[in-house]
Amino acid sequence: MKNNSGQTLRRHIDRSAIAENYQILKKASGAATCGAAVKANGYGCGVETVSNILAREGCQQFFVADAIEAAKLRTIQKDAEIFILNGVFEDTIPLITEHILIPVLNSLSQIKLWQQSGVTQDFAVHIDTGMNRLGLRVNEAYNCLDDLKSVPKLIMSHFANADDPEDPKNTQQLEAFTALSQKYSGVTASMANSAATLSNHAAHFQLTRPGIAIYGGNPFSHLPNPMKPVVKAEAKIIDLREVLPNETVSYGGTFKAKETMRVAVCGVGYADGYPRNVSGQGVQLREYVPNGAKGFIAGEMINCIGRVTMDLTMFDVSHLPRNAVEIGDWVELFGDQITLDDFAEQSGTVSYEILTGIGRRYGPSI
Ligand SMILES: *Cc1c(COP(=O)(O)O)cnc(C)c1O
Repeated sequence: MKNNSGQTLRRHIDRSAIAENYQILKKASGAATCGAAVKANGYGCGVETVSNILAREGCQQFFVADAIEAAKLRTIQKDAEIFILNGVFEDTIPLITEHILIPVLNSLSQIKLWQQSGVTQDFAVHIDTGMNRLGLRVNEAYNCLDDLKSVPKLIMSHFANADDPEDPKNTQQLEAFTALSQKYSGVTASMANSAATLSNHAAHFQLTRPGIAIYGGNPFSHLPNPMKPVVKAEAKIIDLREVLPNETVSYGGTFKAKETMRVAVCGVGYADGYPRNVSGQGVQLREYVPNGAKGFIAGEMINCIGRVTMDLTMFDVSHLPRNAVEIGDWVELFGDQITLDDFAEQSGTVSYEILTGIGRRYGPSI
């Protein structure tokens, strides 16, 4: 961890866990090459740190969201293949040529733009088999095959429901892509995200591209997490205060003390990516998910009470011995004792959103 003095939220990235997780995915990929999704600053973990670890572990194919992320990654990874998932636009062609990036062409208009640009570098083609986000429709992909002036470096598709390996949509998508890949014979094919890499051998083709599992998130919605945790987030206690019976805590007064309490005020809030939805009380989500977030300190779980605010969050430490908690101590928000996925669930979202949001106030400071 870099010097983060003054910060009241700190993250710890377990570098060896990133390496171990990649090796698990590489092994699961079998004969296929194992690439990596490192978009959004390596899922918030720092793309320099992450891509260097992965490269040392043998990763040579990186997927990012846009040309800006790709150009930045090129300054770190000089020799790797860098795929731009959002494809090509008029204004990104200079970056693509300067940094030898590989656009994943997503539509007939992107194919046209690419061919008319006259750029002769490698490109990839994305075929939509059911996600309805990016990619040529399957029939478009068959039709445009003959129009392509050169052979794509890669064809790919993306699962919509891979987090549930039992979902029949996976089979439908896989069948559509398998048939198409036979038409593009000799071209590297890629379909598997983390969940499919771990659970669906038939989806490996020649290149897998896991993301969340590298960063320790559970790729499955209803199965145990096979990955090692990577990120730990902690907030500093910046004040301890006594709250008297019938007093309320935080905006809206949604938490009311029944007895005298000791409350830790922590320097973390929604501006840090600590979601307002984890508030102990006073957010709509609590109607569906009864309990808000917990913190962990001095061997005990502590409850978040009242609403999370922009920069500050309050926790109940009444049950801890007085000398066990002091101003300046750190409360674990998630990491070792509280799993990232449990925390994400308490905030009504997924690990991906937590990882890419947490700590953004301080920028890439790890
Ligand atoms: C983000 C992404 C991945 C990685 O998905 P995970 O669920 O994080 O493993 C793979 N392919 C595409 C197209 C993506 O956008």
